[in-house]
Formats: sequence, structure tokens, C-alpha cells
Amino acid sequence: MSNIKKADLIQLFDFPRTRILKSMEVTHCPHAVFFNSSDEQCVTCHQGEECVWINHNDEMVAMEEKSIEDLKQQILVAVDFVDSSLSPHHLSRRNCQCENCVWLRKVQLTLKGE
Ligand SMILES: [Zn+2]
Repeated sequence: MSNIKKADLIQLFDFPRTRILKSMEVTHCPHAVFFNSSDEQCVTCHQGEECVWINHNDEMVAMEEKSIEDLKQQILVAVDFVDSSLSPHHLSRRNCQCENCVWLRKVQLTLKGE
């Protein structure tokens, strides 16, 4: 059994949610970031992946009803987004205190169940 608490996982979503939304060019989106899988514009949009994530993990979505496995998977996707947006400078600094690195470390600890 793992010690991961759902509430802890859900808390981790706050940071990437705001961050991904900020990094997206919302002004260019004709749908105000409401992903529509039947809209060709959405499917071919270069922000598609981020957009799908946001729509899956919106505050309006009942996060409590998702399984731990589900939440873990979504967090890992968010880790990829944050990770890939960081310069190598962050990754080489073990104790970088920027909000991105602090969050990434928090995710690691939470996923370990510590
Ligand atoms: Zn950093």
C-alpha cells in the first residue's frame, strides 16, 4: 500500500494549472481554452496537449472523484510540461529555489509517499 494521500496530490495541481494557463496563448484561442475534440482547429492546435490537460484538470472538475493512479498520471504529464520549459540551468542546480524547481521537488516527495 502506498502512503500517497489524494488531498496532497490534488494540492499539487494548483501550480501547473496556473502556470500552464499563463504559458498558453489564450488570446489566440477562439474557444477560451475549452478543448473541443470535434473541432479541427482544436485537434491541430499547437497548444493541444496543454489544453487537454487544463480541461481534464480544471478546478471545476471533481478531482476528489478521480483515482490516485489517475491523478498521479496527470501530475506526471504536468511535470513534463514544467520540466521541458526550464532551462538546463535549473536542472543542474540541485537547490534551485524558483517556484518551478520547488514544485518539482514537492511532486517527487509526494509521489514517494513521504
Ligand atoms: Zn529553478
